[in-house]
Amino acid sequence: MGKPTGFMDFDRRTANEQPCVDRIANWDEFHPALDEAGAKEQAARCMNCGIPFCHGGVSWKGVSSGCSIGNLIPEWNDLVYRGQYEEAYRRLEKTNPLHEFTSRVCPALCEGSCTVGLNGDPVAIREIERYLSDMAWEKGWVKPHPPASRNGKTVAVVGSGPAGLTAAHYLNRRGFMVTVFEKSELPGGLMMFGIPNMKLPKDLLQKKIDLFRAEGITFVCNTDVGKDLPVSELDRFDAVLLCGGAGQPRDLSVTGRNLPGVRFAVPFLADATRRVVAGQTEEKPMAGRKVVVIGGGDTGNDCVATSIRQGADKVIQLEIMPPSPDSRANDNPWPRWPFVLKTDYGQKEAIYLYGRDPRTFCITAVSILGDDKGVTGIETVQVEWADDGSGRKVPKPIESTRRTQDATDILIAMGFVGAETYLPAALELTIDRTKYATSKTKFFSAGDMRTGQSLVVRAENDATRAAKAIEEFLLG
Ligand SMILES: Cc1cc2nc3c(=O)[nH]c(=O)nc-3n(C[C@H](O)[C@H](O)[C@H](O)COP(=O)(O)OP(=O)(O)OC[C@H]3O[C@@H](n4cnc5c(N)ncnc54)[C@H](O)[C@@H]3O)c2cc1C
Ligand code: SF4
Repeated sequence: MGKPTGFMDFDRRTANEQPCVDRIANWDEFHPALDEAGAKEQAARCMNCGIPFCHGGVSWKGVSSGCSIGNLIPEWNDLVYRGQYEEAYRRLEKTNPLHEFTSRVCPALCEGSCTVGLNGDPVAIREIERYLSDMAWEKGWVKPHPPASRNGKTVAVVGSGPAGLTAAHYLNRRGFMVTVFEKSELPGGLMMFGIPNMKLPKDLLQKKIDLFRAEGITFVCNTDVGKDLPVSELDRFDAVLLCGGAGQPRDLSVTGRNLPGVRFAVPFLADATRRVVAGQTEEKPMAGRKVVVIGGGDTGNDCVATSIRQGADKVIQLEIMPPSPDSRANDNPWPRWPFVLKTDYGQKEAIYLYGRDPRTFCITAVSILGDDKGVTGIETVQVEWADDGSGRKVPKPIESTRRTQDATDILIAMGFVGAETYLPAALELTIDRTKYATSKTKFFSAGDMRTGQSLVVRAENDATRAAKAIEEFLLG
């Protein structure tokens, strides 16, 4: 512990984000890194407590606590406080090959279980990770490290999201020849074509992919395995890891669902990122539009921020669930992840621009109005969550609250039901949620494809474990 009284001397501090008025005018990252004094102060607040809950990623009764990849947080905090930045970074890269991205987009499971957060504000751990990650690139500490020798075994990885990248990185460093197949034109999975540029800059992602290439990983893009590439092409590999993500969105089953102007969130976000990558940042394809985002979660929030930058006249978000409480409920104690209401960056931008929180809770779509030229409106109804007689809470419409409002675009951001089925079907295998091996010898799976929709940091953890299972399968 760098400073025994740090947690009493200093308050929690995070970097100053660019104000909404400036950031909605562009697609640039709006959350900078903390300055050196800020990073040291936050590191000083770490108590190096006997049991560092922040570092030990566990799940209690299905609720996360701590960093899924076991980042060595108290160790780097101490080193940062002492100004030993390179040593701190070396600790970070040991457990986290994608620190550039978790330090930007991770919800910071670690902070939810930080002991200082038990009766105060937690250490700003993600900010310290970001400080180290940015510094490592600036100082040239991030360098390709190809393996000294190869072990003669080949592995195919299908899908280049955080799971595919983490597994490829692990296996490549251990001497396997790794080929990553990706159906999109660029690698990165949802880090490339899901999370918007202002949260996760795509030039940084491409820089990291270049580093992986320089270490010896082969990327084959524009190749949809099971469609463009026959699955028989995978026969030549000694093992195959399927990391295709949870690409099946949950659909909305109401009248008007198939009208032009009703879209799923991810294709909408991917199209926006393609425009940014192509340098078409001045385009305003949502100019004059009235956007309704169905789903009040993180993906919906990204749709709000993206619609705003694309010039929408109005953006609202409908959420069927009630809002989370402002502070931990009695059945959600520390050090479990706190389920509390947060107002995310897109919602803050909507409040700035339109004068109100875009979210309405306990509401659902009843029908979408329009014709073959497009959407003209949406009919909604408020719901109350009531017991269905068997102890289960279900939404019941309050008929007197039915109303119609104008809309031109409906974005469905209602989560994901699981992996697309064509690849497992073509391979004639089933994915097993309880283990990394599938029902077919030499085929493994990891990430959202195995676990269902989750987080970057959890995909990393899952992929490292799957890569170790492959290593054991091939080398004993
Ligand atoms: C809009 C959005 C925002 C999010 N924001 C955050 C966030 O802020 N923080 C966070 O931690 N998590 C976030 N998540 C969740 C996170 O992105 C995912 O949990 C994570 O990317 C899963 O990693 P993965 O590698 O398993 O799958 P994915 O990232 O989905 O990658 C799967 C890849 O496989 C490819 N693929 C699929 N099938 C084939 C095939 N047959 N052949 C070749 N390629 C194939 C796909 O094209 C894709 O590139 C977000 C998710 C969404 C949708
Ligand atoms: S990866 Fe996420 S949970 Fe782990 S230390 Fe970083 S911010 Fe915290």
